[in-house]
Amino acid sequence: MAQLSDDCFVFGGPMQPVDEVAALIASRLSAVEESEAIPLALADGRVLAKDMVALLPLPPFTNSAVDGYALRGEDLPETAEIAFPVSGRIQAGMSPGQSILSGEAMRIFTGAPMPDGADTVFMQEDVRLDDSGRVVLPPGLKRGANVRPKGEDIAEGKVALPAGHRMRPQDVALAAALGMTEVEVRRRIRVAIFSTGDEIVAPGSIRGPAQLFDSNRFMLTAMLARLGCDITDLGILADDGGLIAGKLADAAAAHDLILTSGGVSTGEADYVKAAVESIGTLVFWRVAIKPGRPVAMGVVRGTAFIGLPGNPVASFVTFAHVARAAILTLAGARLEPLIARPVRAAFSYRKKEGRREYVRVSLRTVGDGSYEAVKFPREGAGLLSSLVETDGLVELGEKVTRVEPGETVRFLSYSDLN
Ligand code: AMP
Ligand code: MG
Repeated sequence: MAQLSDDCFVFGGPMQPVDEVAALIASRLSAVEESEAIPLALADGRVLAKDMVALLPLPPFTNSAVDGYALRGEDLPETAEIAFPVSGRIQAGMSPGQSILSGEAMRIFTGAPMPDGADTVFMQEDVRLDDSGRVVLPPGLKRGANVRPKGEDIAEGKVALPAGHRMRPQDVALAAALGMTEVEVRRRIRVAIFSTGDEIVAPGSIRGPAQLFDSNRFMLTAMLARLGCDITDLGILADDGGLIAGKLADAAAAHDLILTSGGVSTGEADYVKAAVESIGTLVFWRVAIKPGRPVAMGVVRGTAFIGLPGNPVASFVTFAHVARAAILTLAGARLEPLIARPVRAAFSYRKKEGRREYVRVSLRTVGDGSYEAVKFPREGAGLLSSLVETDGLVELGEKVTRVEPGETVRFLSYSDLN
């Protein structure tokens, strides 16, 4: 495990601003060191352990971009069409054999290597054959047209993908095109997760009249899985300080991160916070974020700990804006800034200065094709329907105190938060 020291975070006051939390995470957490070589077919979602260097230019040879006729650029008809004898035929996968001579054309197909001397290709749709089998080429084509030069996509020796990159399908394609069969990736980070609360029971078990089925653990597990974590599910723990402390200590021995939900606010029944303090260090436990606020971060026996609030919406939002950065940092992934889409607010809103707020919204298109954000009508942090029936979050910065209809606001899609 990556060992953290108990004082690896600095306590910055009672309510930690979101940006300070992000800076602390980036500067104090370090990536797991171990890496492994895995088959390329399993690489989607994994984090590259080192730069992937192109050992080959792409394309590896200059080739035709179309089905047509290749010729030397200096022979291109300038003002009137010219008929050329067709001196050969090159199909994809063949080597061109002979080079092209002045005054000749060659039949060529998409992806076939350009013959020596040729640098331009006419599309077959733009030419015709005359009675003696010569190809008649019209004037006006630019030299170099319809040719894909060697290395135009990726130059040999270039860093094709940097260390820390999280592989996507198109990145897997690039690695394959470079001839790689394996990639060197960081090992998956090991995350232990549990829910807390006497009122929480697992779906499938008997629910007492004052109990709720555990939804957070399933949501957070799905979010962790999308970030490529190896997950140990520790179930639901009762509100019992000793029990929770024991589980935390056990989990710390074999995991890079312990993620919990519930039990971290100021109430008397907030056993998780107390348990962390009893066997480790709590670095902060309140973040200036809404929904959210009680988000605890700490270190238990060298392992990072993040305690998310129990309310499902608060859990979701703080996972996306606090836990996600910590997870990606531990996993060795480069943190790409989230790309917010500017949209027009279709709502008015009041908020307190000094904290960041996320408003659940649906997008709808307006007359000119732009988008408008419609706020979910209710605000409760326990309303799962408010996440299910919306498209994403409008982010309102610390300084904002009001939003009026028609104002431009920043929209973050749920699909970008994983
Ligand atoms: P807590 O943060 O423990 O005070 O919990 C705040 C609210 O979230 C309470 O209404 C809890 O019942 C609810 N809650 C806590 N944990 C879960 C969970 N795992 N799934 C669904 N709701 C939860
Ligand atoms: Mg609780």
